Amino acid sequence: MDSAEYERKTAARFASFDQDGNGYIDREDFSAAAAAILAEFDTTARCDKGQALYSGAEAFWQGMAGIADVDGDQRVTRGEFVTGAVKRLRDNPERFAEIARPFLHAAIEIAAASDGGDEGVTVGAATRLLRVLGADQEAAERVATALDADGDGIITESETLSAFAVYYTVDGPDTQ
Ligand code: CA
Ligand code: CA
Repeated sequence: MDSAEYERKTAARFASFDQDGNGYIDREDFSAAAAAILAEFDTTARCDKGQALYSGAEAFWQGMAGIADVDGDQRVTRGEFVTGAVKRLRDNPERFAEIARPFLHAAIEIAAASDGGDEGVTVGAATRLLRVLGADQEAAERVATALDADGDGIITESETLSAFAVYYTVDGPDTQ
């Protein structure tokens, strides 16, 4: 991908992390994302899955801050995101999977419980999850449908995790 496209995608990813749109990523954005997922899937914050989502969001924020918050002010600016997070996560996608997994695992469990079952997440639930996390409707549908390779309408957790990892590390299909 050329540098203009790379910059555009990076800006879009930054915007999807910056849930409240105030120009930097901080802990509030991660709890806002958790709250939005709970609201989308009619799940209370008090239940086990809700608690797991919030602690996953906190771990995700701590991991992000550890990688990208160079000046330690508890805010990740766009510049810190581009030089810190995106580059390092591209160099080391396993590290991304590690910091995001508890959050995404809890989000997937919530989506599966509301609409799917033990096997995984339905294409519809995965679309809703991508929407809540900042993808537009058309792109969310396209990404979720592509993941259901055998066409049975169910996406496994590991497929969903990889899709989100690819999405967040910028190399993935366009979702904005
Ligand atoms: Ca923010
Ligand atoms: Ca900072």
